[in-house]
Amino acid sequence: MRQRTTSVSRYGDLTSPEVPRTMRGATLVWPVGGLEQHGPHLPLSVDMDIPDALARQVVAETGGLLLPGQPFSARSLPQSGGGLHFPGTVHIGGSTFIDYLTSCLAALSRLGVGRLVLINGHYENEGLLFEAIDGCAPTALFPDTEVVAFSWWSLVTEDWLAEHIPRFPGWHAEHAGLTETSLMMYLRPDVVRAERPSHPSPPPAGVYRHPVDADVMSHQGVLSSAAGASAELGERLFWHLVDGVVGILGTPARDSAGPATGHGPTAAAP
Ligand SMILES: [Zn+2]
Repeated sequence: MRQRTTSVSRYGDLTSPEVPRTMRGATLVWPVGGLEQHGPHLPLSVDMDIPDALARQVVAETGGLLLPGQPFSARSLPQSGGGLHFPGTVHIGGSTFIDYLTSCLAALSRLGVGRLVLINGHYENEGLLFEAIDGCAPTALFPDTEVVAFSWWSLVTEDWLAEHIPRFPGWHAEHAGLTETSLMMYLRPDVVRAERPSHPSPPPAGVYRHPVDADVMSHQGVLSSAAGASAELGERLFWHLVDGVVGILGTPARDSAGPATGHGPTAAAP
């Protein structure tokens, strides 16, 4: 059985003088998440916890350093996240989110990293994240940096879905459903509640209707069904994702392993 790694080298543990020699040519991994309602059984932090755990494992397996996760996300929408009809969601408007990411990318470009990897965990972030990267003209801003950005669900293969979730409702409707519940049961079982909500009629993909009836669109903020979720399924999915990321990244940008201080890697709770 493969063992997860939560203790990895963190960018924030560097001192300023260590930054140039440590970061030039290295890989930097940035989880981009959210704080969004995930029904009565999952915590608000799901969209941060999953990319954070994945980022830690990617750093452990391919080298590099971990940036602190970005916890605030783009607006939750009714047909992919339940919208703002449920308490708890904290969001940033789309144009502000793009501006925020653009400023962060400009600051990160000064580090001279060889590869910047952005792992997204919130459905509505995706298009805005890609737009921010494209809009800052990365070949000019990051002439020596490979920028790789993806949402974790994009790495799930059709074969994996066919084998494990034959009646898949679509990723837009998987919000707080079988995959997120299973991943959280594997990654953070202590915060998963016992209820397993099921919504028999997931919303169709790509159709937006207004006004929104939250009770028709979801069941307690869950768009499909969490029934059948298990830590075992979450474990299989997590390692499928890790293999997918490692496959995308191939060899490390540089054989970097974090701070050159002699201190070991620093643990932090996901
Ligand atoms: Zn989610």
